Amino acid sequence: TPAIEALDVTRTYALDGVTVEALKGVSLRIDPGEYAAVVGPSGSGKSTLMHLLGCLDRPSGGVLRVGGEDVATLAEPELAALRNRTIGFVFQSFALLPRVTALDNVGLPLVYRGLRRAERRELAASALERVGLGARTGHRPTQLSGGEQQRVAIARALVAQPQVLLADEPTGNLDTRTGAEVMAILERLNAEEGVGIVLVTHDVEVAARARRQIAVRDGRIERDTALAGA
Ligand code: ADP
Ligand code: ADP
Repeated sequence: TPAIEALDVTRTYALDGVTVEALKGVSLRIDPGEYAAVVGPSGSGKSTLMHLLGCLDRPSGGVLRVGGEDVATLAEPELAALRNRTIGFVFQSFALLPRVTALDNVGLPLVYRGLRRAERRELAASALERVGLGARTGHRPTQLSGGEQQRVAIARALVAQPQVLLADEPTGNLDTRTGAEVMAILERLNAEEGVGIVLVTHDVEVAARARRQIAVRDGRIERDTALAGA
């Protein structure tokens, strides 16, 4: 079964009495273990699409199934629970809590699961190991480099074992070398651990290393092609 399935999904925003059609009918299927890059010009609808796939937002029309469930049938708490067990989200801006340690940032999605502190810390420590940050568990975000902060964010996205990790320009705030290190971690998680990844990128080299390229233009999918991968 697909991890995510979108059928003719639309999303319109009302802005100062003007309606903006950010997505005009998108159909798309994301299978577990995929490695897809979403590309397209600024304003084409990439972030809107990612927010829908990640259940951070709901469609205006069409059908969106995540983990086999039609999101339109779910109340807000159920949608949040579905997001927590199927999706990991990584933002360009990291979105870490500034005052708590890497370990506690990573353990946050498990608070939602009702896990006890000792159990959360154990799982968070192993997620930090997976991104090469086993030696930084007690550091706060301000004590970490940008690349390390993004790796903490990736660990947080992984800790609850989601079906798919969605990343909206994960290297957008990083310099080239640090961005390449973060990409290497994502590629390894996909290749060796089977973590499904869908990422938005403006970097043609990053996009070329994916196994699928989804090109968005003017609120529609212009092209959806399989690639050889890295
Ligand atoms: P991209 O990620 O490709 O840059 P977005 O999904 O952010 O594109 O935006 C697609 C379109 O939707 C743009 O025209 C944008 O201005 C509009 N849009 C995005 N978010 C909102 C919002 N919250 N309110 C109104 N319009 C929005
Ligand atoms: P930017 O591209 O400005 O750095 P991000 O890519 O980090 O922003 O975030 C994209 C969108 O996701 C923004 O509209 C932001 O409000 C929203 N967002 C950021 N962090 C979170 C979060 N932890 N939960 C839900 N939405 C978030």
